[in-house]
Amino acid sequence: MAWKTFTPPSKGERLSYDNGALVVPDQPIIPFILGDGIGVDVTPVMKEVLDAAVAKAYGGERSLVWVEVFAGDRAMAQFGEYLPQETLDAFTYYSIGIKGPLSTPIGGGIRSLNVAIRQKLDLYANVRPLHYIPGLPSPVKHPEHMKMILFREATEDVYAGIEWAAGSEGARKLVDFLVQEMGVTAIEAEDRATVGFGIKPISERKTKRLVRKAIEHALKRKLDSVTLVHKGNIMKFTEGAFKSWGYELAEEEFGDRTVSESALWDEYDGQPPAGTVVIKDRIADNMLQQLLTRTDEYSVLALPNLNGDYISDAAAAQVGGLGIAHGANMGDTVAVFEAVHGTAPKYAGQDKVNPTALILSGVMMLEHLGWDEAADLVRNGVAGAIQAGRVTYDLARQTEGATEVKASEFGQAIIEQMG
Ligand code: NAP
Repeated sequence: MAWKTFTPPSKGERLSYDNGALVVPDQPIIPFILGDGIGVDVTPVMKEVLDAAVAKAYGGERSLVWVEVFAGDRAMAQFGEYLPQETLDAFTYYSIGIKGPLSTPIGGGIRSLNVAIRQKLDLYANVRPLHYIPGLPSPVKHPEHMKMILFREATEDVYAGIEWAAGSEGARKLVDFLVQEMGVTAIEAEDRATVGFGIKPISERKTKRLVRKAIEHALKRKLDSVTLVHKGNIMKFTEGAFKSWGYELAEEEFGDRTVSESALWDEYDGQPPAGTVVIKDRIADNMLQQLLTRTDEYSVLALPNLNGDYISDAAAAQVGGLGIAHGANMGDTVAVFEAVHGTAPKYAGQDKVNPTALILSGVMMLEHLGWDEAADLVRNGVAGAIQAGRVTYDLARQTEGATEVKASEFGQAIIEQMG
């Protein structure tokens, strides 16, 4: 393949799929986006830490072959566009990518580069693990009770962008249609000229592919439950359907390896048969309470887009907040890993911010490759560095007795603590 915006490495191979199963060479090529703002501070540290872990775990038999691809300000400066098609093609061609944060261009047609990447590559599952690392500041008494992973649907729901502003022609037409043809009475006459609309599509196919990913993960990692989080008591045909399709999918495709919560009590006296995952559901407002009160009863959550947005941030606050929050955007054959935080422009280039979020996204990438030994080394390193109390400013200011270190020094501390 001929590329114009980057030079492919002379060594390494790309990932491939054999009958749906990921095939990982010993030297996989990993396209990365450096990122805007603090991307220059955190991305090099993440690469260094991952390289050190892979070298330590596999003694030179395996290595990551990095290739920089471009998006954001660097792409604009070099190629005159924020998101070159080649960058998307590279993620597709190599089936993987990791990215630093990207600033949202002001003006112009792009709402957000991150959203554009997810939509264009159909990365429909936004995956966020939430585990507590001892030593991190937390507002709750038992942050260690949280060991969860969230699968948030990322392509539909109110984020689909089907909206009309109050007073627009679209809103007027919709009011007429709803009132005159559908017999809707909920929009009173005095509000009809000043009502805005957003439409919330939730489909069977997109729900099922998301729930499938969540259940596959639970089975692979031997986790005990998948919880469908919905507001189906109010939004019956969108959120309620999400719940029903989730149970249906579990029954259709994983019938012998899953058991619904109701069957668990009706048929198994509360004890799930060995090797099965319990499928349960919770209403979203109740789930926000359960996060705090019964944290350890949940391991995998599957959520529609908006619930996922609220609940993932609420949960992240319990276990360390933005400097730690990490995730992946996953499709069927492409996965792009990223930190949750943005470009924090006021700190750009100061070697100051916390690189942990992107490093933990890198851990997810290593696990995706099946390189769990290297992933564990990084996890140990992060835990050791935090416990040693030599941390970046964000953690230092909340932790008594901690010493503030630079982003790069924190990376070195992680490497030293890996063993
Ligand atoms: P932000 O960049 O996440 O920063 C907000 C604040 O969070 C920072 O001022 C800092 O807090 C803290 N923070 C963020 N990253 C940190 C880190 N690695 N270590 C320690 N503290 C960290 O959010 P924003 O200011 O709303 O957004 C800035 C730009 O980023 C926007 O253009 C936005 O569109 C974009 N964005 C991109 C992504 C992405 O690429 N995935 C995600 C979100 C936002 P203190 O000032 O309190 O220290």
